[in-house]
Amino acid sequence: MNSRLIAAYVIQNSSSDRFREGVDRKRIVDLQNRAWEMDSGLYRYIQHGFSILDYLDSSTMSEKTKQLNEYLNFVTNTVEMQKVLDEVEKALNLVRNEWNQNLEQSNIAIADILGFELEGNWNVYIQHSAIKTGANLSGDILWAHRTDWKNYNTIYLWHEILHSTFGHSNEEHAIIELIADNELRARLNKITYPPFEGHDFLGDFREHLLPDWQKYLKSTPRDIKKFVADHSVTK
Ligand SMILES: [Zn+2]
Repeated sequence: MNSRLIAAYVIQNSSSDRFREGVDRKRIVDLQNRAWEMDSGLYRYIQHGFSILDYLDSSTMSEKTKQLNEYLNFVTNTVEMQKVLDEVEKALNLVRNEWNQNLEQSNIAIADILGFELEGNWNVYIQHSAIKTGANLSGDILWAHRTDWKNYNTIYLWHEILHSTFGHSNEEHAIIELIADNELRARLNKITYPPFEGHDFLGDFREHLLPDWQKYLKSTPRDIKKFVADHSVTK
């Protein structure tokens, strides 16, 4: 949990399509309103980034950076921010408990599916649950607590972690979904698939991969890197 990151993220995600249906967003909107009233110009800067004119010279850039830092310090010290943080902290504890409960079992399952143990460290930054969140930014993961179905957080954190090991093609993204959203979910939740979980736009890719995927799961020893190499077309 990082309050500067949470504040900046709340400011960046103020359009209504960024909110999740059915999740109380009052604290978020209160903070957005407060931050807007404090300085709407700097608020827009956090939303849209530097203007091209800021790159004219380094003193302009550093002056703007200084202003943005001070602004974020003000925003993170408001009462509204504290209320947002209280909610994020509760969510963080829920995510952490779920993750820890599933850690051993999901570690074994992922290693079994991939054919090797995944090594590495990932920082997970929890955001407010009212904002749609799930991203792996070069190894730093943004996540927000969700309970759409059992073990949702565990499965999608693995999905984000797997983005560090795979490329960006649709095929590789669909393979990540077969591994985490579907096979790991099947093992943890004792269900079968299809029907699939995952992005709608990857549905055809998952369908197309399914027969080979089922063969892959029956084969030993497994090597997901070979499966990826055999099934990657677009980049
Ligand atoms: Zn993904």
